[in-house]
Amino acid sequence: MEVEKQRGKGHKLVLMPSPFQGHITPLLQLANILYSKGFSITIVHTVFNSPDPSSYPHFTFHPLHGALSETEASKVDAVHLTDIINIKCVQPLKKFLATLLSSQDDDDSVPVSCFIADAALYFTQSVCDEFGIPRLVLRTGGASSFLVFASFPLLREKGYFPVQESRLEEAVVDLPPLKVKDLPVFQSKEPEAFYKLVCRFIDECKKSSGIIWNTYEELESSALTKLRQDFSVPMYPIGPFHKYSLPGSTSTSLLTPDQSCITWLDKQEHKSVVYVSFGSIVAISEAEFLEIAWGLANSNQPFLWAIRPGTIRGSEWLEPLPSEFLENLGGRGYIVKWAPQEQVLKHPAVGAFWTHNGWNSTLESVCEGVPMICMPSFGDQKINAKYASDVWKVGVQLENKLERGEIEKIIRKVMLGDEAKEIRENVMNLKEKANLCLKEGGSSYCFLDSLVSEILSLKSSTSKAH
Ligand code: UDP
Repeated sequence: MEVEKQRGKGHKLVLMPSPFQGHITPLLQLANILYSKGFSITIVHTVFNSPDPSSYPHFTFHPLHGALSETEASKVDAVHLTDIINIKCVQPLKKFLATLLSSQDDDDSVPVSCFIADAALYFTQSVCDEFGIPRLVLRTGGASSFLVFASFPLLREKGYFPVQESRLEEAVVDLPPLKVKDLPVFQSKEPEAFYKLVCRFIDECKKSSGIIWNTYEELESSALTKLRQDFSVPMYPIGPFHKYSLPGSTSTSLLTPDQSCITWLDKQEHKSVVYVSFGSIVAISEAEFLEIAWGLANSNQPFLWAIRPGTIRGSEWLEPLPSEFLENLGGRGYIVKWAPQEQVLKHPAVGAFWTHNGWNSTLESVCEGVPMICMPSFGDQKINAKYASDVWKVGVQLENKLERGEIEKIIRKVMLGDEAKEIRENVMNLKEKANLCLKEGGSSYCFLDSLVSEILSLKSSTSKAH
């Protein structure tokens, strides 16, 4: 075991996250997994949403100063921001790598084996090429949604894009079981920007030395098989990252989780609570917020609701909530700004997760065996929700208008109805597979082993280039 642990010893990996919560978390988890194999870890990152180095004293952190200010970042949507990063980080990253590689000339310094970048940071491919450093990609989303992203040009050619209201119920023939309404969209001032970003990062993934996935073979085997046919680079599905029990795994949260909700959960009955969270980016209108609040109140189930400040458009936090809303529920509802989500999903009192189906939330729910109420908003979320409801059958989609009566009905369906038992069995089955894949001989265990071998065999030509 000790020898196994040391395989990466004497090799440095440089990793770069995309600066969003749902991307930073899996990248740091991957870094920890590779650290446990003996690799030295350096994290390069934007100053905006920078990870907290004090949580990772075993890593070296390097901020790319001058790449992007907090003010610039706060003014734009996630697609535009990613575009800016792909332009503005080029020079600072080159400068950093040049310095790093020149220090490699010291006899006792550790050589860089490869660069691992979030898939959205497509600019890193040409920078790595220039420095002769092999580049691996981390895709923080699922393989099934990536397959849809990889089909964007085909979807456009066949007239599915731009998505037309009149065709929403039509099946997408090339991508069963998706319907047009499940295709990824991103509300942006420039609708074309999302399409271009996706095509660009897919192209650069194809030039990489391999793609690392926070998923597991048993969950997404059909998408992974198709991707292996279509892409000539190796695929490493080594997830679920958060289930590796490793020393040094600390919180990757950008916001401080409110632990008081665990004490509240301790007082609730077994599998009675609906946990509600729409992740770190999704925003809702005041009208939607009030329907959710009343739907939860009228459902008679206890609920824990994580509402990030800024979630409700036009409000700082909970201003639209009628005064005494929570008091009138007699302790049946609990609201926090940010929850310790993994701990919440693990808690025996939680019976369902009302989620926006970001990939991390979807995977975390599956891994804890928690049935989902799916309310996707943008990007890959609709595809994740479709897989959760129609393929894995571990949840139900809120498809009709977001209205309090509908909400009450769906909560009952997932918690108490005839379907509830079947959904629970399906999700428990996937939970078990997630546990098994990480054990010795399991799929993710074996893929991690090949990933380590691949990294050790990658030929870095850095000494020649610089
Ligand atoms: N999360 C959390 N507390 C909350 C809400 C979210 O810790 O109150 C975490 C959650 O566990 C997940 C991440 O934030 O790891 C959200 O990522 P996801 O991909 O689900 O959605 P995104 O925020 O990227 O839309």
